[in-house]
Amino acid sequence: MTQKHCILIGAPVDCGKRRRGCLMGPDAFRTAGLSEAISDLGHTVEDIGNLSPKTVNVSPANNPVVHALAENVGWTQTLMEAAQEAATKGMPIFMGGDHALAAGTVAGMAAHARAQNRPFFVLWLDAHSDMHTPDTTDSGNLHGTPMGYVTGRTGFDAYPALPAKVDTGNICMIGLRSVDEAEHAVLDDGDVTLVDMRMIDEQGISAPLAAFLDRVTAANGLLHVSLDVDFLDPDVAPAVGTTVPGGATVREGHLVMEMLSDSGLVSSLDLVELNPFLDDRGKTANLMVDLTASLLGRRVFDRPNRSFP
Ligand code: MG
Ligand code: MG
Repeated sequence: MTQKHCILIGAPVDCGKRRRGCLMGPDAFRTAGLSEAISDLGHTVEDIGNLSPKTVNVSPANNPVVHALAENVGWTQTLMEAAQEAATKGMPIFMGGDHALAAGTVAGMAAHARAQNRPFFVLWLDAHSDMHTPDTTDSGNLHGTPMGYVTGRTGFDAYPALPAKVDTGNICMIGLRSVDEAEHAVLDDGDVTLVDMRMIDEQGISAPLAAFLDRVTAANGLLHVSLDVDFLDPDVAPAVGTTVPGGATVREGHLVMEMLSDSGLVSSLDLVELNPFLDDRGKTANLMVDLTASLLGRRVFDRPNRSFP
């Protein structure tokens, strides 16, 4: 694959839910050797360190259970700017941090795509759709809202205005197995491509992904990938606060990443929801690093086209 310049951006966002620990995520990725795994594949890597949220003043949310609104808004501003700046220099890899960070990273990458005059697509690898708004969330945990924000749902008045709304028809969610009623209400009649675990069991994970990647290719789009640890089964990836049984296997995870690598379409990546406090001797951090390596070209074997006499 072609050599890339990867820009590691630490985003120790821990305000998207009440259970703490994701702030240690960026250092766990560093400890697990993310930078080395990428450079071993022939790419160049730059780690710009950890960012911090802008300080903002916001009015209290209408929904009294909303947790840490100002900090979430501050992170969104920081990461929206960081994404746009990094995207002009290479491939940003956002080391989370919880999934609230995607409000900023996805919005920023969408703005970058618009500036490049390219259609923008999102592959959301997650047990959850994260399609809530601050008004619809029962938990008040804003890590369940980034897709609501980037698609322009109402209720995000405290957040920065979106430079470029993400077209729901350009989103593919794979791995779904925990979607709330309020999220169903917008997804069921919408045009987001939804691939739940039953579909993966029935059809395999490669067919729906290949169909989506074909669309991105046909549109000459930029593709952002957001990988939530809970996309994977908790047996293989325990370090997450929102475990849902019945997730993707190690092999399914690698297959997705290898197909993404073959496609050459990925322009940016989120690695989110790793909570090292819950990990088992670095098992989850190591798996996330291995998956990233697959996305960037690591193979068990090269598979050249052989001709047989
Ligand atoms: Mg998520
Ligand atoms: Mg999730």
